[in-house]
Amino acid sequence: MKTKIFLAFLVVIFTALLSNFLFEWFIMRDFENYISGVKEDQVYWITASAESGYENGQWNDAVLSETVHWAMMMGLDIRILNADGHEITSSPQIMESLSPVMKKRMEGLFHVEKTTGVFQEYPLYHQGEIIGMLSSRPFQKKEIAEKERVFKKRTRSFLLISFLIAGIGSLIIALFLSQYLSKPVTELRMAAEKITQGDFSARTVARTSDEVGKLSVVFNSMAESLQKEEQLRKQLMSNIAHELRTPLTIIKTQAEAIADGVVTDREQGLENISSEIGKLVRLVKGIEDVTTAEASFFSRLEETELNLREFLIGIAHELRPLFDGKNLSIEVLDDKDLSVTADAEKLEIIIRNLLSNALKFTSKGGVSIFYGKEKARFFIEIRDTGKGIPEENIPLIFNRFYRVEKADDGGLGLGLAIVKELVTVMHGEISVESKPGEGSRFTIFLPLS
Ligand code: ADP
Repeated sequence: MKTKIFLAFLVVIFTALLSNFLFEWFIMRDFENYISGVKEDQVYWITASAESGYENGQWNDAVLSETVHWAMMMGLDIRILNADGHEITSSPQIMESLSPVMKKRMEGLFHVEKTTGVFQEYPLYHQGEIIGMLSSRPFQKKEIAEKERVFKKRTRSFLLISFLIAGIGSLIIALFLSQYLSKPVTELRMAAEKITQGDFSARTVARTSDEVGKLSVVFNSMAESLQKEEQLRKQLMSNIAHELRTPLTIIKTQAEAIADGVVTDREQGLENISSEIGKLVRLVKGIEDVTTAEASFFSRLEETELNLREFLIGIAHELRPLFDGKNLSIEVLDDKDLSVTADAEKLEIIIRNLLSNALKFTSKGGVSIFYGKEKARFFIEIRDTGKGIPEENIPLIFNRFYRVEKADDGGLGLGLAIVKELVTVMHGEISVESKPGEGSRFTIFLPLS
């Protein structure tokens, strides 16, 4: 791209320089035309002056001599012929008749001897009849020729200097501009190359808001998606491997023991195997749920308008039998109407997970649900009177497969990871306050629309 931009600039520069040359050529041509135009005018007046020297069929020598004299001063070598073609007077003749001082002056002004050009002929008229002929050719006027030469030379050198300044200047500008314009694209290419080599941390800086700048922004968000996907894949694989190891080891040991006849209680052995397989099945289901939650990062939110009170009462109503079973209460403690726009399916997964944790970790009392509005956000708070979470464990509870106590409560440590993922996807936040022995309070904040 850099080369292309540079070549484009070169074409522009050469076009500009070509026009500079044409300009010079036109100026020179017009200058020549101007000079010859001036000469034509001079000849016209000399012709008129010569014609005025003809009176009553006679040539007035004084007038002719003055005319030739005058013509010479204007740098013209002339001859005046009569109607028969005989020379009446001429520049050399007048030159001879000049005083030595005058002659010297004339010679100082012209290259009198170097007159080599062809004579141009101009007929002389008197009352419509040709009375003679005036032949003219230029002397090389010393001073004027010098002035013309200087003028031409200076014009040429001015044009050459402007040519060089314009040429070199635009060449440098072209170099810088092509470098400057191609830099973001080069950066993008290098970042893309890094990504193809597996370095998903590669990013570009969007310096401008033009097309290239927008491309940078899109590229960065694409790289971010790829990086996130890659991280999720790696983490999930290592977590899964870790979680699979224990049940599979137990199954293997039990199966081998049964096969070897080491186990006395075969029934118990098979029951253990079945229980571990049950765990594996739950694990697979949990992985499925967490993968779906994480994949929702890459899909659009299905937002609908919700009456939050009805929505929460509906979920509480469905879960009540489970709470009743443990002699726990479940109540929605606000009764105001609050309409919000949110992805109902994801919100339901969040609330159900938080409530099922509250149910699991509470043995007396119950769960209360609050909701409300705060600036441009709404919040839902789930309070329980359960066993609480030790302060040092709170920062870890959203990690995948993390459990405070590895008690066999059927938990996989995936519920809060799913909750956190979905809250993030919905552009919200989650906070936790908890005191061991007193209970926990999980609050989610989501944008109102
Ligand atoms: P699990 O599926 O094991 O419940 P979670 O990710 O939902 O996993 O929770 C992680 C851990 O956080 C739980 O094992 C538990 O120790 C703690 N926890 C979550 N919710 C509560 C709660 N309401 N009360 C007490 N502890 C909780």
